[in-house]
This record gives sequence, C-alpha cells and structure tokens, in this order.
Amino acid sequence: VASSDVVIVGAGIVGCAVAYELARRGATVTLVDDRAPGFGATQASAGMLVPYIEAPEGSPLLELTVRSLDLFDRFVGGVCAESGAAVEYRRTGSLEVETRDESLARLREAAACLARRGVSAELLDAAAARAGEPHLTAEVVGGLLVPAHGFVAAGALTAALAAAAARRGARTPEAGRARLIARSGSGLVVETGTERFVGGSVVVAAGSWTGRLAIDGVVPPPVRPVRGQLLRLAWSGALLRRIVWGERCYVVPWHDGTLLVGATVEEAGYDERTTIAGVRDLIDAACDLVPHAWTAALVDARAGLRPGTPDDLPIVGKSGVVPRLVYATGHYRNGVLLAPLTAQVVADLVLEDRTDPMIAVTNPARFGAL
Ligand SMILES: Cc1cc2nc3c(=O)[nH]c(=O)nc-3n(C[C@H](O)[C@H](O)[C@H](O)COP(=O)(O)OP(=O)(O)OC[C@H]3O[C@@H](n4cnc5c(N)ncnc54)[C@H](O)[C@@H]3O)c2cc1C
Repeated sequence: VASSDVVIVGAGIVGCAVAYELARRGATVTLVDDRAPGFGATQASAGMLVPYIEAPEGSPLLELTVRSLDLFDRFVGGVCAESGAAVEYRRTGSLEVETRDESLARLREAAACLARRGVSAELLDAAAARAGEPHLTAEVVGGLLVPAHGFVAAGALTAALAAAAARRGARTPEAGRARLIARSGSGLVVETGTERFVGGSVVVAAGSWTGRLAIDGVVPPPVRPVRGQLLRLAWSGALLRRIVWGERCYVVPWHDGTLLVGATVEEAGYDERTTIAGVRDLIDAACDLVPHAWTAALVDARAGLRPGTPDDLPIVGKSGVVPRLVYATGHYRNGVLLAPLTAQVVADLVLEDRTDPMIAVTNPARFGAL
C-alpha cells in the first residue's frame, strides 16, 4: 500500500493541472490512470480559450471562464519553465462570422454586451472580415473580432503539467484503473484491483467516466459522455491569422500549418470512435467556411468524450457524504480553459480548507447527496 497526501483519479488536463498545483504547494501526490496523461477527452480538444463565444451572457459559466482565462499566461509560463517543454499557446483573437443577414443582429448584440463589459471587440462588415482573413468564404456577411481569445495545444500542455508535477515529486504509478474509492482510517483508499493507494484526500478527475466510478456507497455525480470529433489538416500556403468560428464548425490555425477543425456534438455513449458521418460533416463545413481547405491534407480525425452535466456547469467541490473526497469533473466543452482556475480552487480546498466563490456555482450538492 502506497500513501500520499492526495490521490487523484484521472490524468486528463484537469487531473494533471490539479496534481501540478498541489505538488507545487508542497503536497505529496499520486496520479492514478490507466491511460497516459491527456489521452481521454483532452487529446481530442481544440484547446480554444474563447469564453465570450462559449459562455452565454448572464451565465455563471462566463464569470468562471473569464476568470480562468486571466490566469492563463502565468499558468502556461510556469508549467513550461518547470517542465522544460515548449507548448504552443497563442492569443490570436477569434473571428466569429455569419453568412446570413438575419444573423447579423446576433453579432451586433454580442458586440454590445462586450462593450458593456469593457471588453475590446470589433464588429466587421464583409469586406473588413475578408480583408483580415482572405481565406474566408465570399458568403460571409460580417464578423465579430475578439482579440483576447486564443488557444493552447491541450495535449502538449497536459504532458507538460504531468512532467512538472513529477519534477515536484508527484508519482504516476503503472497504469491502473480505479475500481473503488472507499474510506480507510482517517483518509481514503483507491483500489485498482492490483494496487491500493491511500490518500489523506482523494480528488476525482475522471472526466466523462466519473459516473461509472464505485465510491463507497455514494451515487456518483451525473456526468455523461458527449462525443466530439475533430479533424487535423495540414494547411498549405498562407496561414489563417486567427481562430475562425463559423455556423457549422470552427477552425484553429497552429503555427506549424496544422489546422484543427471541430467539432461534432453527439450523444453516443462511451463510443470513442470517429465516424464517416462525423468526418464528412466536418470536411464539408470546413470547406464551406474556408474553401482553400479543399487543398489541405487530412492528418487525422480524433474523437473525445466531453464530460457533460445536466446544467452544463462543472462539478467542483467537496463530497457532502464522504469526508476528504473532492470532485473536479464535468467540465464539458471548456475543460482546457477552466483548468487553471479548477487547479487553484481545488488546491485551496484540499490544502487550506478554503472555499472559493466558484464553488457556490459548481457545488456537487446541487445534484443531491454526492
Ligand atoms: C472535440 C473536442 C473539442 C474540444 N474543444 C475544447 C476547447 O476548444 N476548449 C476547451 O476548453 N475544451 C474543449 N473541449 C473539452 C475538453 O477537452 C474537456 O472538457 C477536457 O479535456 C476534460 O478534461 P478532464 O481531465 O476532465 O477529462 P479527460 O481528458 O477525459 O480525462 C479523464 C481521465 O480520467 C481517466 N479515468 C477515467 N476513469 C478512471 C478510473 N476509474 N481510474 C483511473 N482513471 C480513470 C481517463 O482514462 C482519462 O485519462 C473539447 C472536447 C472535445 C471532445
């Protein structure tokens, strides 16, 4: 039996960010997963950091995602310095475009909301949108430019987080799937079938599989898998300058010429395969948005299971039933963006018993006795 201050179940971007933050603050950490870090939903992620597109005005998700975006420069800087890894992270801005006149009012409304918040944004007519992004379809009627937005290479960032945590002493044992989390003395034990890991606290960061965990007589939180498929293309010629968000897909231009095209949203259970229908829809949508995509090479197609919740908000906070059990899951479409804030809030809770205001919104108790 190995023991540490905290055992984390799940090494996606959320589990690895929490592991790094805890280890950085001096805790001993064990990270349990049967996959390599980042090989759950995270490997399929587009890594976009676009709160003002993703989160509706007035929703608590907007406050959380904006707060987390503010932490990103320091977060990525620290992880890269400690791991020695280079991680692509760019605040290129995003251009959200419309091809139907009747949708322009929506962009105008979004621009007005941003102006009220004091967030820099620019409403563009068709000519200005195409001048800024010449690859755009001629059907564009207007666009909304938000300079603060950006993206990060989610897989590389997760590997760097795991490496930085390991440098701070975090242990990642041989692949093991947690079968049971149970009370043990004054702490908890995570059992994989072959090994037992005792922790003063346990953090559940098992993404869309959280609902399948066996936790000491507790009904697991209502997290369900929502499949997303994403293409990686090898772009030729002049690159796009920014993230372009269209009606049927978005595209993310990496510096090396890789263009990510995402994403489907499918209720397909735990099926992690890519499908002909998903790939075809994304290719069609990409070629409609940026017709030069016809000339690109298809590098690969990926699928991941987003951890969805009934109210589309994460589940972060203490269990109301099992002492020293903390959930960090259910990040649905924004787990990459929310990773720095989640790590900070969970570390505050586990190490200092400090409850961040975020937990008023993400408290597991809103779904009953979890
Ligand atoms: C196509 C697509 C595009 C996306 N685009 C974006 C985006 O642009 N921006 C953004 O912020 N987010 C995006 N997301 C969402 C984001 O990827 C997720 O919210 C995030 O990856 C969730 O991270 P996680 O660590 O909670 O889960 P995961 O990455 O799924 O990690 C969970 C880990 O837990 C492990 N695990 C599960 N059960 C057990 C067990 N019993 N024992 C041990 N280990 C276990 C799994 O093996 C896995 O490694 C996208 C998702 C998809 C699919």
